Amino acid sequence: MPAPKNAMEIFKLLDKSNCRDCGEKTCLAFAGAVLRGQKRIDQCPRLDPGVVERFSRDSGDPSMIETNREEFLAMVKQKIAGINLVSAAERTGGRFQNGRLILKILGKDFSVDAQGIFHSDIHVNPWVAAPFFDYVLNSHGISPTGQWVSFRELKNGKDRYPLFQKRCEEAMKQVADTHTDLFDDVVHMFSGRQVQRQFQSDISVVLYPLPKVPVMICYWRPDEGIDSSLNIFFDETVVRNLDIGSVFSIGAGLTQMFQKLALRHGFVEAAG
Ligand code: SF4
Repeated sequence: MPAPKNAMEIFKLLDKSNCRDCGEKTCLAFAGAVLRGQKRIDQCPRLDPGVVERFSRDSGDPSMIETNREEFLAMVKQKIAGINLVSAAERTGGRFQNGRLILKILGKDFSVDAQGIFHSDIHVNPWVAAPFFDYVLNSHGISPTGQWVSFRELKNGKDRYPLFQKRCEEAMKQVADTHTDLFDDVVHMFSGRQVQRQFQSDISVVLYPLPKVPVMICYWRPDEGIDSSLNIFFDETVVRNLDIGSVFSIGAGLTQMFQKLALRHGFVEAAG
């Protein structure tokens, strides 16, 4: 579907019941708010997820970070140029130094300047940039409560990203099955910490892909005919600090990181 040119084109997608669940008095008012960028299309709970996805992809909605990365990055750079980085540092749990907002991602410094240019001393994995910008622009600065929830329990998680379990948790589990000691490497390399075992798991590791966005990975070893298992948990506040697309991106990025580490690990073992 091409990007909408006016509110009528968005209105046509809606169920026109004027139910007000989106917070607007009418569907037409909601369509106008989406066009002006004041609402996101997925804030109408009556829309089919397929329509939301197609609309978001074609219109450059930040909720489709995964599929529209390039356009999304160009758009947010412009937006960053318009915000106060000093107060953004306070809100996001970062620091302001030498004209830049600096945030720790997995223990490493990443920064953005007033022109929206992204800086880092280390190689930037593609998955890092989009959640970083989303966090700087849209985070409400809510501190974690320590209440862990799965991706499918997050608002819009299951509907919008039904493949999270397969693409992230299942893929990461396969790595953990053959390289269980990788968890130690991950903790050391990325400033994570082993925490007390959660949900009766054998290993529980907490990482910080963004300052107020902890992620907990729990792994259960195979046991007496029961297959191993791995779950990724987020703090219940995560969707108030990040779009669900960014949360998915973080899960996919951490999975890639595990896979790359395992590859290197395999080479080292083979060489040894
Ligand atoms: S929630 Fe959807 S259907 Fe209900 S008024 Fe808003 S736009 Fe219309």
